[in-house]
Amino acid sequence: MKIIDEDLITTDPIAFLSNEDVEVSVLRLDKIHPVVSGNKWFKLRYYIQEALEQQKRTIVTYGGAYSNHIVATAAACRIHRLKSKGIIRGEAPKQYGHTLQEAASYGMEFCFLPRSDFKMKKLPENFITAEDYLINEGGYGDKGAAGAGTIAYDKDKFDIVCCAAGTGTMMAGLINSKRTHTKILGFSVLKNNFSIENEIRSLLLNPLEDINIYHDFHFGGYAKRSPELIDFMNMFYSVTRIPTDFVYTGKLFFGLYQLLKSRQFKAGSRILVIHSGGLQGNLSLPKGTLIY
Ligand SMILES: *Cc1c(COP(=O)(O)O)cnc(C)c1O
Repeated sequence: MKIIDEDLITTDPIAFLSNEDVEVSVLRLDKIHPVVSGNKWFKLRYYIQEALEQQKRTIVTYGGAYSNHIVATAAACRIHRLKSKGIIRGEAPKQYGHTLQEAASYGMEFCFLPRSDFKMKKLPENFITAEDYLINEGGYGDKGAAGAGTIAYDKDKFDIVCCAAGTGTMMAGLINSKRTHTKILGFSVLKNNFSIENEIRSLLLNPLEDINIYHDFHFGGYAKRSPELIDFMNMFYSVTRIPTDFVYTGKLFFGLYQLLKSRQFKAGSRILVIHSGGLQGNLSLPKGTLIY
């Protein structure tokens, strides 16, 4: 899936987060594509490739009504002339939110499942056929991790890489592709989602790797937010001109900022933060919430 211009991926040190001891840089994956932005492009690439190799015509996947994965899958399928179907958690809304509208504009068909059925993956008959290519919710799986492992950065330079973690697929890929000296730090955006460690471990090439995840920066849970988070995101934008999203990267930068303030990193650390995109999610916020 060649839709990105790799030149757009920049790694700029950010003065605001750096100090005399620690240098922090950001990998701007949010810039690679307006829709299939950030980590989703990487996580989807090998699934799409396999679907094309198997000459599938339709991709089916799962997600919530605000899921970046749903939009990214719909857009990626459109680019590759594949049909897409989304199985969406919850009852059909009276009016589609931005995410569903956009996915529908790329031709995605939806099937809405009440939460209990969604959990059990209880599907209506005939929505999926044996001919369809299935991708897990959030792109979780070995192929997703392998794709995330192709996120490129200067491996000689950085000793710490920070990322947001939803399913943990991106984090697993980063662990699989890191150098021995590098530590990957994950910031979980779900509340008390302690099973993520096992979910990540089952995607690791070396299951003995350390898994370092912070569970303190979820702001109440997935897609939950507080005025403190929004204030931080606005402040962070006004100082750095880097927009973040309230579901993933806002929490990631907030968490890292706290760790930096309390001097959790060894002097001389060179830290890379993966800006994994997701900015489309901010369109579900009331107008005026963010200054960008
Ligand atoms: C989906 C997403 C993530 C989480 O990726 P996982 O591989 O599920 O952990 C992080 N950041 C953004 C912006 C995302 O859209």
